[in-house]
Amino acid sequence: MSILKVARMGHPVLRTPARAVDAAEIRTAAFQKLIDDMIETMHEYEGIGLAAPQVHESVRLFVAGVEGDEHPLPLVAVINPEITPIGAAVVEDWEGCLSIPDIRGKVPRRDRVKLRAIDREGRRMEMTISGYGARVLQHETDHLDGVLFFDRMTSFETLTFLEEYGRYWSRTEVPAE
Ligand code: ZN
Repeated sequence: MSILKVARMGHPVLRTPARAVDAAEIRTAAFQKLIDDMIETMHEYEGIGLAAPQVHESVRLFVAGVEGDEHPLPLVAVINPEITPIGAAVVEDWEGCLSIPDIRGKVPRRDRVKLRAIDREGRRMEMTISGYGARVLQHETDHLDGVLFFDRMTSFETLTFLEEYGRYWSRTEVPAE
């Protein structure tokens, strides 16, 4: 496995809508290695989500995993995701992004969503999730459409460097996605 280079904000790949993954492609050694490398890269940088465009691969794939939350998200590789909001509730919470290093900001997101996608074995998967796990799924799916979390903020007042975040906003670090 290898640790991949992460594209930073300003790289056009982050603003390019990614192409859908073909079913036949999923089982290939190259695609399976990409998934393993993305998981290793996400863990190396202590992230909780990483989308393929963030590692310069413009395909509809992301990996994510949230531990210890009220609504944990098991480590998953998600291919060709479709997200449907459930209910109207919107919550604001802190986000970070591995492509926007050392910045945090509060982003409104749907509180509860249903995810339909394909897993790394090529099987259909479906998941309904609330809270931070739902937030991560929305953040990663946005990456596949060329959308960054700044685009979802309704005010930039909470935009904060990580050091100031730790000093003035919280003792708990918000991981990046
Ligand atoms: Zn991100």
